[in-house]
Amino acid sequence: MNKKKVSLPDLNYAYNGLESVISEKIMRLHHDVHHKGYVDKANLFFDKLTDFKKGSEVDIKSILKNLSFNYNGAKLHEIFWQNMTDKYEKMTKNMEKWIENNFESVEKFVEMFSKTASSVEGSGWAVLGVDNAKNGYIYQVEKHNQGHLSGLRPVLVLDVWEHAYYIDYENRRDEYIEKWWKVVNWKWIEKKL
Ligand code: MN
Repeated sequence: MNKKKVSLPDLNYAYNGLESVISEKIMRLHHDVHHKGYVDKANLFFDKLTDFKKGSEVDIKSILKNLSFNYNGAKLHEIFWQNMTDKYEKMTKNMEKWIENNFESVEKFVEMFSKTASSVEGSGWAVLGVDNAKNGYIYQVEKHNQGHLSGLRPVLVLDVWEHAYYIDYENRRDEYIEKWWKVVNWKWIEKKL
C-alpha cells in the first residue's frame, strides 16, 4: 500500500479557541468533515493515478480534475488553520514593514485583501502569495483551484466558502471577513515570508 500523500493536521488550538470569531460548531464541521473530505479524496485520486502506472484503464482527465480540486482544497485549509491563533496577537513590526513595502500601508493591505475575499463569486478564497524575492501579491481563487498564480507560495489565505461562516454569520460574509482579522497569526505568516 502506498503511503498517503496528504494528511489531516491537528489544529494548534482548541476547537473553541477562536470562538469570538468562529464558533466551535463551525470549526468541528469545517476541520473534521470538510477538510477531511478533501484530504481523503485527494489521496483517493492519487491512488487512481497509481492504478494507471500499474496498467489499469483510467480516465486521466477526470482524475486530474478531481485531484486539482481536492488537493488544493486540502492544502489551502492546512494553511488556513495555521493562519489563525487563539492568542489574539498584534501584527509584528517586521510584518508591518513588509506590508508597507508591498502595499503602501497596513490599511490598504487589509482593505485590498478584504475586498478580494468579499468579491469572490460563489465559493473561494482570498490569498496572499509571495514570490522567491519575497514580493507579495493578493489574488483570488475560485473554488479551491481556479485562479492560482503559478510560482507564488500562499502564506495567508481566507476561506470564504459558505461552510466557513454561514452557521455564525448567515449571508453576512463581510462581517465574517472584518472580524477574522482579530485571529490572524502574524508571527506564523512572518516566518513563512
Ligand atoms: Mn473550507
